[in-house]
Amino acid sequence: MDKITIQKELTDMLGKDALLSEELDLMYYSYDSSFFTKLQPASPYAVVFPKSTEDVQKIMQFAYQNDVNVIPRGAGTAETGGSIALEGGIVMDLSKWDEILEVDAKNMQTIIRPGVVHAKLNEELAKFNLFFPPDPGSSQMCTVGGMVANNASGLRAVKYGTTEQYVLGLEVVMPNGDIIITGGMKSRAIKNVSGLNLTKLMVGSEGILGVITRIRLRCFPKPRARGIAMAVYDKLDDAPATVLDVYQAGILPSGIEILDNSAIKAVNEFKPHINLPDAEAILLFEVDGNPAGVEFDGNLIKELAGKRARSVEWSTDQQRMTALWEGRAVTATAAARVRKDGTRVFAGEDISIPISRVTEVLRRIKELGAKYNIPIVNYGHIGDGNVHSAPVINPEIPEEVERALKLIDEIHLLAIELEGTTTGEHGVGAVRRRYASLEHGTALDYMRKTKEAFDPKGIMNPGKLI
Ligand SMILES: Cc1cc2nc3c(=O)[nH]c(=O)nc-3n(C[C@H](O)[C@H](O)[C@H](O)COP(=O)(O)OP(=O)(O)OC[C@H]3O[C@@H](n4cnc5c(N)ncnc54)[C@H](O)[C@@H]3O)c2cc1C
Repeated sequence: MDKITIQKELTDMLGKDALLSEELDLMYYSYDSSFFTKLQPASPYAVVFPKSTEDVQKIMQFAYQNDVNVIPRGAGTAETGGSIALEGGIVMDLSKWDEILEVDAKNMQTIIRPGVVHAKLNEELAKFNLFFPPDPGSSQMCTVGGMVANNASGLRAVKYGTTEQYVLGLEVVMPNGDIIITGGMKSRAIKNVSGLNLTKLMVGSEGILGVITRIRLRCFPKPRARGIAMAVYDKLDDAPATVLDVYQAGILPSGIEILDNSAIKAVNEFKPHINLPDAEAILLFEVDGNPAGVEFDGNLIKELAGKRARSVEWSTDQQRMTALWEGRAVTATAAARVRKDGTRVFAGEDISIPISRVTEVLRRIKELGAKYNIPIVNYGHIGDGNVHSAPVINPEIPEEVERALKLIDEIHLLAIELEGTTTGEHGVGAVRRRYASLEHGTALDYMRKTKEAFDPKGIMNPGKLI
């Protein structure tokens, strides 16, 4: 079916206010935050804004009958090309469908539509003294539907895990228009081992198996206290060693972040008033819980880190905590400013490796930066081995782009060599698909068979994940 007919059929079905079809509007949907889509943007045939499960069902039935691809999209903050119509099709923008249907505080759960923005959900849950712990850096923008589809997490994954641990059940519209409810049709249970776990299968499926239209999420009680410790290191190796010391002492901080000297320099150049100490690495520990426990853990972290670090500071004072954390908070932006003629690109930025190999990976990434003559800023969630490496390039120079692509490929291969993975939280999308066979071997065949069982016509977000 041609593009004009698809637009006409969708307008007849949903009304013209629920659709975009002008070329300029479609162009806005031709990219996400990835470097990949800056290089290869791809406009969809149309963008639709469903506001009910029935709308989604009608769109899927139409697409299924006419072999048209459908690409679900939340806020488009993923850095993988995941929400782009790379092979043509209809983009289904779910970001406007953002009702919090219920906060079931007595059962410690909430039921929401996919377009709810992460930060907004936590604002609402706070009224009930609850929270949804995963905390992506994109909290103010990304949708919880996108988080579920990408199994997103953030710095608190150290203690609280990833989105999948909180998804109790989902309503999903399948590629042929069937509506399924996972996790039990009427269930409000928190534990459930009944049936095959389709909820887990849908979480992290990156929109290739169906459209998530309702989410039942587990919530946790909000911690009553918080503290931050900053440790400054002259030797990079001492930073991961401290992380291990802390774990071995029986402490599980809610976050442990690292800034290496490239990140420290980037932060100080971007915001001189932050004035981070000149060092090989800085560790930031966040501890949360009840006030007495937080004080105990914080003081023990101070003592343990003090054995290896040049200096350590621990604070539970709100103003001081904000100051200690400020360097980490601006790192991503600072990385984009290290060159006047260039910018940070989201490409090799999300590898995850065993904690014991963090020093090795940081050194090897630096060597790769030197080999390709490209500055790289390194920071990340050292508590779970998730390293964000930000190459800074001038995307207008084709030869430099070529070098960057080779560098990025080597970073991904390095992650696999060091017993890690090419992505710890941002996902595969279109950009990391080529490593799937290397990472998964024969398991990839079974992933493809699962996809075929759910989506025999291959219309659901093709060209992604597997
Ligand atoms: C500045 C910045 C910081 C970030 N920090 C983090 C971080 O700390 N941790 C982290 O994990 N990620 C992070 N990200 C990546 C990104 O924000 C997350 O992956 C987020 O969960 C994506 O949500 P979204 O609404 O933007 O989804 P989109 O980008 O719109 O979509 C992502 C994928 O989900 C699919 N999808 C979206 N909605 C649905 C649905 N309802 N049903 C089925 N499939 C769907 C899409 O097809 C696509 O494949 C960051 C991104 C930026 C720009």
